[in-house]
Amino acid sequence: MKLLEYEAKEVFRRYGIPLGASAVASTPEEARDAAAKIAKPIVVKAQVGVGGRGKAGGIKPADTPEQTYEVAKQILGMKIKDLPIRKVLVEERLSIQHEVYLGVIVDRASRCYTILASSEGGVNIEEVAAKTPEKIVRNNIDPLRGLRSYNANNVAKRLGYGGKKMQQLGDILQKLYRVAYEMDAELTEINPLVETADGFIAADARLNVDNNALYRHKELEAKYLESFEGELTPREMEARAMDLTYVELNGDIGIIGNGAGLTMATLDTVMLYGGHAGNFLDLGGGASPDRIGKAVEFVLKDNRVKALFVNVLGGITRCDDTAKGIIEARGKLGDNKPIVVRMMGTNEEEGKRLLHGAGIETNDTMEEAAQKAVQLAKRV
Ligand code: GDP
Ligand code: MN
Repeated sequence: MKLLEYEAKEVFRRYGIPLGASAVASTPEEARDAAAKIAKPIVVKAQVGVGGRGKAGGIKPADTPEQTYEVAKQILGMKIKDLPIRKVLVEERLSIQHEVYLGVIVDRASRCYTILASSEGGVNIEEVAAKTPEKIVRNNIDPLRGLRSYNANNVAKRLGYGGKKMQQLGDILQKLYRVAYEMDAELTEINPLVETADGFIAADARLNVDNNALYRHKELEAKYLESFEGELTPREMEARAMDLTYVELNGDIGIIGNGAGLTMATLDTVMLYGGHAGNFLDLGGGASPDRIGKAVEFVLKDNRVKALFVNVLGGITRCDDTAKGIIEARGKLGDNKPIVVRMMGTNEEEGKRLLHGAGIETNDTMEEAAQKAVQLAKRV
C-alpha cells in the first residue's frame, strides 16, 4: 500500500521526523484557509500516488492565501500520469540550501533493511543513481541490532556532514528506520530532506507498507479497502465478497488457475494463440471442491465468456478436488459453455477419471489446452 505524501507525513510526525507546518485540502477554499493559518509563504503540492510530481507541474509556490486558492484550484483540476488530483498539501515553503536523499528499503539479496542515502537529493535522484552510483551511500541494517547511532552518524559522515549536522542527520535516519521497521514498510523515503538555515526538514515523504502486514495496521487496512471503492467493477466486487482473486478483462475466454504466476502464464498462452482472456482468477493454494465449484460457476455465469480454461497444477490443490468442483458447477449450470481443462500433479489420474466420466475433456499441455480454448471461443 502506497501512502500519499500527507499520510506518510502524519506517520513521520509521530516519529519525530522534522517537518514544515502543513494541512491537507480538498478544495481551493480549504487551501486558502490553511495558508492563512500557516501565515508564511506556501507551496501547494498535488497528493498523488506516483513520483515525479515536481516535474509534472504538481508543486507550485504561492505567497498569499488568495494565491494559494488560485494555485490549489489549478492543481485540483489537473491529472498527473492519468491520475486525477483529489487533494493538495498546503505547506510552509522552505528556503532550500541543499537537498539530501534518504531511503530505507528492503534489500532482498541481503535479507535486511538497507539505507540508501545521497547528498545529491532532489528530483534527479534516479539520474544520480544511474550516472554516478558512487554518490549513493548504502548501509545494511542488522535486523537484530537495529540501527545504532554510530551507524547512522557514520552514514551522515559519508555524505559529508560533521558535528551537529551529522548528529541531526543521524537522528533522522534512526527515526526513519523505526518508521520502516514498525510500519512494516517495503520502502520509506525522504526526498528531498532539505537543509535549511534552521536544520534539516523533510520536504517530501514516501511510505509503502507491505500489504501482507496490513492486518497489523488496522487503520491503514480500512483505508486500503476503501480506496478500491468505485474502482472495482460490479463483478470484481462480487468476487471480492467471495474472497476470490479476480480481475475482469475484456476478452471472451474465462481463465481459472492456481497461483498468480501460473494464471498469468495461462493468460499469456491464450494470447499467444490469438485468444483474449475475459478475466484473471487465481484460486490460490489448497482450494476445496466447493470453492473451486463456486469459482467455476462465477466465471461461467459471465455473459461475455464463451469458453472456460481451467489450468491447475496439483500441489496443495488436488486435481480430484478440482474435478469435483468443475463437475459440481456444471451440474448446477448445465452444459452451457465449453470447458477446457489441463491438470497435472497430485491425484491427476483420479481427477481426469472423474472429468472424463462427466464428459469433460482434458489436455496434457498448457499449449494444447490454450489452442483448444481459443478455437472453442471462436466457434460459439
Ligand atoms: P516529487 O517531485 O513528487 O518528488 O515532489 P517533492 O515534494 O520532492 O518536490 C520536488 C521538488 O520541489 C523538490 O526537490 C524541491 O526542489 C521543490 N520543493 C518542494 N517543496 C519545496 C519547498 O517547500 N520550498 C522550495 N523552495 N522548493 C520546494
Ligand atoms: Mn520527492
